[in-house]
Amino acid sequence: MNEAGLITGPGLLFVVSGPSGAGKDTLVEALREHRPGLRYSVSATTRARRPEERNETHYLFVSGAEFRRMLDEDALLEWREYGGNLYGTPRDYIEQSLSEGYDVIMKPEVNGALAVKAAYPDAVLIFLVPDRFSNLRERLLARRTETNEEIARRLEIAQQEMKFIRRFDYIVVNAQDRPQEAVRDLDAILQAERFRIHRYPDASIHAVESS
Ligand code: 5GP
Repeated sequence: MNEAGLITGPGLLFVVSGPSGAGKDTLVEALREHRPGLRYSVSATTRARRPEERNETHYLFVSGAEFRRMLDEDALLEWREYGGNLYGTPRDYIEQSLSEGYDVIMKPEVNGALAVKAAYPDAVLIFLVPDRFSNLRERLLARRTETNEEIARRLEIAQQEMKFIRRFDYIVVNAQDRPQEAVRDLDAILQAERFRIHRYPDASIHAVESS
């Protein structure tokens, strides 16, 4: 049952994407603090772990061979090469969580987001953008996790990614000095999607009618 007293079907899948440096990590983290019931899909990656990252919490850090084995076993819902590393979404966790009625959030790059939509047409795609494109560079520089070359590559990819914005369901602007507004906007999207009538099976609605 949800707050409206209606029995709900499977959980909802929320995909937050957008260019590197737009603030996906920070915002999704803040959103999850606010909504502890929301499950997070941990991606597998061959990228080197950053000092502040923990295996199985931030990513499943795997070798190239392990990643290929996952591909052979069809264990990834989608995968992409990004900046010379491989990233992919484990299939089982999402399938199981949704079928158990849990909402799931994930944050792949843009092509990955579109691949998820192809597999799950009901997925809600949210495109996160900075208020000014030039802020991307500043954010990437400030976090000091990439070399200058890697930053240049990420900005090139960002330009390409912006071309796909119209294939998303929502746009959220992450203003440099007001990140709490973007968290609030994301939260509003999650809330509204819950109440869309097509998400309720007829049986749930009839059950209310006859109660
Ligand atoms: P980072 O190295 O900064 O953690 O991530 C680089 C890019 O890979 C980001 O745009 C991030 O959203 C994306 N990414 C992370 N996990 C996945 C995934 O499972 N699939 C895809 N397609 N992209 C991912």
